[in-house]
Amino acid sequence: MKQVRIAFFDTKPYDRRFFDEANKDFGFELSYFESRLRPASAKLAEGFDVVCAFVNDDICAETIDALVSENVGLLAMRCAGYNNVNLFAAHNRLPVVRVPGYSPYAVAEYALAMLQTLNRSLHRAYNRVRDNNFSINGFLGFDLRGKTFGIVGTGKIGMVFAEIMQGFGVRLLAYDLYPNTEMARKYHIEYVTLDELYRQSDVISLHCPLTPENRYMINAESIAKMKPGVFIINTSRGKLIDTAALIEGLKSKKIGGAGLDVYEEESDLFFEDRSDAAIDDDILARLFTFPNVLVTSHQAFFTREAMTNISQVTLENIRAWRDGEKLVNEICSQCDGSRSCPGKPKDAQCCRGKN
Ligand code: NAD
Repeated sequence: MKQVRIAFFDTKPYDRRFFDEANKDFGFELSYFESRLRPASAKLAEGFDVVCAFVNDDICAETIDALVSENVGLLAMRCAGYNNVNLFAAHNRLPVVRVPGYSPYAVAEYALAMLQTLNRSLHRAYNRVRDNNFSINGFLGFDLRGKTFGIVGTGKIGMVFAEIMQGFGVRLLAYDLYPNTEMARKYHIEYVTLDELYRQSDVISLHCPLTPENRYMINAESIAKMKPGVFIINTSRGKLIDTAALIEGLKSKKIGGAGLDVYEEESDLFFEDRSDAAIDDDILARLFTFPNVLVTSHQAFFTREAMTNISQVTLENIRAWRDGEKLVNEICSQCDGSRSCPGKPKDAQCCRGKN
């Protein structure tokens, strides 16, 4: 059987550890590059059968052209989201697979951790007591019980988030292009319009994919509709939020807290150690001035269980491709995530990240 050579881009020591372990069951030839996948680095794929990429790689048309001309046969995303892949450019030229649900628990549990860190000021308390300051001034939080939560996107992660929040005695509202009525009944979720969700929610948690339709869905106009003091948690994708508008909402105190595991301009910063340089992103620097903002570096997925699943499913996707089997985790290559996506007539749900 032909040996499959896989080029991994944007890798860190933890990626190597988990993929090397999972590969004991597959025996592929793995090569790890630290470089991001982008037009300038795609040449590194020369001689490889498969390229494995991650959330902040730039897989634009030019990158795809370069991979195709290097005779790469498969692009294996080791993540769930695929907003960074130009699927139109890949159509009929390069199949693209992903890992649709490696651990919804990792991300949903992290969303709650972000909320409670902010709500109960744990990030500030940690530093204060280490400075022998035992004052609790400024740390006043609120009980979650009885509050209204708005979940945007009730797929795998949004539903686990709903399940977890059940235990806190909250009221659950949700918005999704494809409501899941059966699960909604189970978790007492009430589907409402987005406007209604904005109007009623004390906490809004984003769990939908980024598509051309919902880019900047959290903007000045939507923030104006929200309850004063609303908390916004984003563990999905940075561009769902217009950060400049979020900052205005924080300044006016309309927004009571923001937990951001993703940021619209994260790609040059997140996952890297930049501690020896000043940040030249003024918007991110302004975010850091708010005590009620928690920014983390796209780490919601980062649990042992998720990393194990990501590596196993990615390599299994590649095995299925090698053996000519149906690619169950292939992304519809005509899907641009919009309402007018040409992939829609074939599979109405694929355009909403459900494929
Ligand atoms: P999923 O496909 O199971 O669910 C997504 C849900 O969003 C679906 O029910 C879909 O119908 C809905 N949806 C699509 N477009 C929508 C829109 N415009 N408005 C409202 N709902 C919409 O996906 P999932 O596994 O639950 O993941 C959700 C997102 O979380 C991913 O797309 C990814 O961006 C993000 N994510 C982040 C991390 C992290 O580490 N921070 C890890 C994994 C996933």
